[in-house]
Amino acid sequence: MRKGLGYVLVIVLSVMPLGCESISSISSIKTIATNALLEHPLPSRYGSTVGREDGFKHVVIIAVDGLRADSFYDFVETSRAPYLRTLLGAMQQPDGTFAYRNAVRAKNAVTVFPSYTFPSWTSLVTGVYPGLHGITGNQLLFRTGPPGQQDGKKSGSLEARYYSEAHIDALAVYWAYLLNNDLPRQSPTIYDVVAAAKGQSLIVHHMISRGAKDTDWRYPSYDTAAMYIKHEAKIYDHNTLYEFVAAVQALNGGSFPNSDADAEVYLPTVTTLYFPGLDHDSHIHADQPHDQQLTYLANVDEMLERLLKGSDRIEKVDSDGRVQDRLAWPGLNHYPKLLNETLFVLVSDHGHSHITMGSALSTDELEAALKHVPVPHGRLKVHETSINFFNFFAKLTSTIFYSGDPDEDDDVFVTLNGGSAAIYLRPPKKKWRDPADYDYSHKVAEAIWDWFANNKAGVLQAIFVRNGSTYLECCRRGAAIPIEESSSDYGPEWRRRLQGLAPVQAAGANSSPDLILLVNRKAGYTFANHQVPWIGTNGTADSNAHWKSDHGHLASEDSSIPVIFFSPRISQLPPQEKSIPQMSIVDVAPTILDALGLYDAKLLDAGLSYSEILARFPSHRGNSYYETIYTTLHDQSSSVLNRAIP
Ligand SMILES: [Zn+2]
Ligand SMILES: [Zn+2]
Repeated sequence: MRKGLGYVLVIVLSVMPLGCESISSISSIKTIATNALLEHPLPSRYGSTVGREDGFKHVVIIAVDGLRADSFYDFVETSRAPYLRTLLGAMQQPDGTFAYRNAVRAKNAVTVFPSYTFPSWTSLVTGVYPGLHGITGNQLLFRTGPPGQQDGKKSGSLEARYYSEAHIDALAVYWAYLLNNDLPRQSPTIYDVVAAAKGQSLIVHHMISRGAKDTDWRYPSYDTAAMYIKHEAKIYDHNTLYEFVAAVQALNGGSFPNSDADAEVYLPTVTTLYFPGLDHDSHIHADQPHDQQLTYLANVDEMLERLLKGSDRIEKVDSDGRVQDRLAWPGLNHYPKLLNETLFVLVSDHGHSHITMGSALSTDELEAALKHVPVPHGRLKVHETSINFFNFFAKLTSTIFYSGDPDEDDDVFVTLNGGSAAIYLRPPKKKWRDPADYDYSHKVAEAIWDWFANNKAGVLQAIFVRNGSTYLECCRRGAAIPIEESSSDYGPEWRRRLQGLAPVQAAGANSSPDLILLVNRKAGYTFANHQVPWIGTNGTADSNAHWKSDHGHLASEDSSIPVIFFSPRISQLPPQEKSIPQMSIVDVAPTILDALGLYDAKLLDAGLSYSEILARFPSHRGNSYYETIYTTLHDQSSSVLNRAIP
């Protein structure tokens, strides 16, 4: 039913020019669309959690898009009295460093590659690398069509499911199930596991919900999504908190229990709260991403304070700034029993690094380079869409209906993911569904490398070539070499993260790129769609380009993320603070499930446990869960998990 609604909205949207003022002016259409989307029929209470007796009953994921690890910790430690410092129990030590009394933090946590939103968040909720879950970029190509062909769609057609117009994708993930539909069965989400255990998941504004009931997925209303275009990032975040409070109120029969000591409030097993504002703010404002994020984090800090301490002014605000609804929320702190059973995880999907305005690379460079490569017909497809009425409509339609793009005559397909571009090659005289031909891929890689060396020296940092299920470092020193033998340093854990983009089996190559072009980020370059006005073509004075910061690279600025677990039950006295020395975003899902006692719970339909699923694909799961997090959380002697609330 909602899919039908999605189509209607897609058409409604498609007749609107993208300018925000004109969206506001079509108020009657907007009101209809908004009201329709806001009608989330809410469930009565159902299900119950089935975790271990001594485990946590609830996990709340605070998902902050684009937050750099250094920005987060500097905010906690250097801002003037942020709420987060109290919440996490951050205390300065005699040597000047901070210990976190109420938290277990990962000190060197990294995201997957490419460090872009869709692959990273998909890894968060599945616990595996992109080469297994298949979401290998915000833009990507499924060479043989997406894994889960849906009713009414052309099966077996070739389709790049994601396009270079990020705003279409940002809507399509909600209204055309872009990510939910494309996840293969062998990559269950945490919500799938919770559902198999008869628990409930509540997802507010996040883009993946598979496993949760439709009614428990509070995706953004059209009006809230439009705030992106209007750059009302902070209000978007406020609306996330409002939707959470409204959902919890509905789950508790329409009102919040009194806050006496015995009061109980119902909370789902897993709750994901998505705050996208910081990423947007960084892209458009951040000449200095680190400093810009310190400023924006005050808003995130305020959201967390309201979440825990409550507020009688939790407001839903429309894109014109008008308050549409207001709720009084007592705050989670008013329910000590519940709080004691809840583990919070604050996590980001990637960082940010500064780019030089006008240094975005796209079709101009790649078309020129590919003219010199031995592709049979030279037919190139780069997903670069100019934003106008017709393209917007056409791209949105093809995103939903699988229009067969690229077609079999195309030789090369390019996707752009910020710090990296992916190149897919049709093997000569073969079809797209045929496995890539390594010798051919290597030849193309060398031609591209030479073209850049001769025409755009210093722009490319590396090219990686896929040979079956491994990547090799190409071109800089002649012959391609296995990445294990490379002495290069492209960023933290770069070999594992690059390898995580490779397919599980060579034969299963579907969305893993044949070539990866890594841009020279230190020189301010990125890969992005020139046709989008706010990225601009040349960064000239008459262009309104304001894309100032980006991600997608292997480098530390793009890759290092905060991962911090906190709970009133976590109580440690400095200097015995527990921290996790090394962690990947893919380690978060097993940790959450373990905390809930569901790590080994059998998935009803598959007959498998999550741990068995991860064990089947050792190269595509995290490396540190059992070595560090498991032992940290289960270390009896140091009682990291204290039963008493401090
Ligand atoms: Zn993101
Ligand atoms: Zn971003």
